[in-house]
Amino acid sequence: MKIYSKEDLNNYEFALTFDDISLVPTEISNIQSRSEVSTNSIFAGVKLNLPVISSPMDSVTGTDMAKELTKLGCLGVLNRFGSTLENIFMSEENIEDIKAVSIALNTDDYIIEKLAEQNMIVCIDTANANNVSVLKKCEEIKNKFNVKVMVGNIAHGATLKQLVDAGADSVRIGIGGGSVCTTSIQTGIGLGQVSSLLDIYTARKEQNLKIELIADGGIKSPGDVSKAIALGADTVMLGRMLAGTREAPGEVIKYQDQLWKKYRGSASFGVKMKNEFIEGEETMIPYKGAVENVINGISDGLKSSMSYMNCKSIEKLRSTETFTILSNSSYLERLPKK
Ligand code: IMP
Repeated sequence: MKIYSKEDLNNYEFALTFDDISLVPTEISNIQSRSEVSTNSIFAGVKLNLPVISSPMDSVTGTDMAKELTKLGCLGVLNRFGSTLENIFMSEENIEDIKAVSIALNTDDYIIEKLAEQNMIVCIDTANANNVSVLKKCEEIKNKFNVKVMVGNIAHGATLKQLVDAGADSVRIGIGGGSVCTTSIQTGIGLGQVSSLLDIYTARKEQNLKIELIADGGIKSPGDVSKAIALGADTVMLGRMLAGTREAPGEVIKYQDQLWKKYRGSASFGVKMKNEFIEGEETMIPYKGAVENVINGISDGLKSSMSYMNCKSIEKLRSTETFTILSNSSYLERLPKK
């Protein structure tokens, strides 16, 4: 059986996503227990206990989620919708513990200045970073303020250098892969998340660019988190996996004897509330309780994966070169049966 390196996977003739690949352990692991494994890493100058950041969606990251994730050693990217931004400036609360905030293309300078003063990471939250207005906004922010800027989203490495030249410090990778995303259906745009990530990873390596990579969209299990990091992502960005938790914005709804919370795309009708072009769905997901439990589950899965792969650090996991491509039957065989 062929073992695929990152380069092999990147040269594969079809676009691949997380369910198409698997990690192959090829070494005797000298890790005796998960406690020997460290999932610490640095992202945007911030020390993370787990390379996980939350999506800036209005049903995922409000202040409660951002605070809790910071407490758990992850990063919350506060959403830009409704009055979230105004609220954080009007409240008496100390926002130093909310380390990243998303903005729109038309967010005023006085808000960005405040974010910069507080040492926050600014996320220019758009569906397509390959756009002159995004590059212009990024350049403007970097020229005026001393702040880290995250841009997104892109699906291919062809324009990575232009984003770096505009001053972007990190980039969200993935178009069409989000679990409430209808972009590919509406537009025919996008490729598999694994191929997107590898193409951009390869562009960064070949052109020796300095930018951090965020695998964003389509991550549905701790195993997918491990795969994304093994493919070279600096962090993963999660929407659905963190939605439906106690700390996610929104009410708990009781329906047919079960508890639910709403999860919706940033380009859904529920967010836009206007009769304009829609590229996102709205759905209900079972209530999950404290986000801490979800984060612990991801941490355990990632550590266990690192132990199989004989990787004591995230940096070592990122250097993985042993992957396989699963046939459809191999993929199905991997799923638990009823
Ligand atoms: P998930 O973790 O698979 O649920 O994907 C979350 C990601 O989907 C977000 O971080 C965004 O990149 C993307 N996303 C959020 N809202 C929309 C939308 O309305 N349309 C398309 N993509 C979206």
